[in-house]
Amino acid sequence: MNEQRVAELIRGLLKEIGEDPDREGLRKTPARVAQTFAFLTSGYRSDFKEVINQAVFQSHANNMIIIRDIEIYSLCEHHMLPFFGRCHVGYIATNKVLGASKLARITNCFARRLQIQERLTAQIAREVKDAVNAEGVGVVMECRHLCMMMRGVEKQNSVMTTSSVLGSFHDDAPTRAEFLTLINRPQA
Ligand code: ZN
Repeated sequence: MNEQRVAELIRGLLKEIGEDPDREGLRKTPARVAQTFAFLTSGYRSDFKEVINQAVFQSHANNMIIIRDIEIYSLCEHHMLPFFGRCHVGYIATNKVLGASKLARITNCFARRLQIQERLTAQIAREVKDAVNAEGVGVVMECRHLCMMMRGVEKQNSVMTTSSVLGSFHDDAPTRAEFLTLINRPQA
């Protein structure tokens, strides 16, 4: 991403909305916005396989592993406004596990792009499944969308929930029920 070029575009945007990009408070804004967007869209440029490779460990366990409340910050592709919330990931691996902090990095790889929540949820599920060759994966995500809160329907308190279940989490009702019970349990 060419930050210089993005800064020029933001300067043009400021003019179009009726601002003076040369006034004191805005002089550094185009450069700041360019830096911010470089970060918020860094998922397009992150070396995804490297993140995965460093995150997989051998294990003989094949029980369900759940990581709850992974913070999610992303940008909706329709309005380029943030949506944010949390996601819960569960999987049953065969001989491999994912490091918990690395799982959060995997979610960041996909969240730091222009997204819709449904696709973000499905991409995380698919990638976790492939990374550890899981027999099943479940991802549930709950987010608030600023494009709904600040504009349009102005629904302040609505939370969108999306889920993606693959493998045994899809095919086997008791497995899916165990996952849902565990992610809805009160905090430890
Ligand atoms: Zn939107």
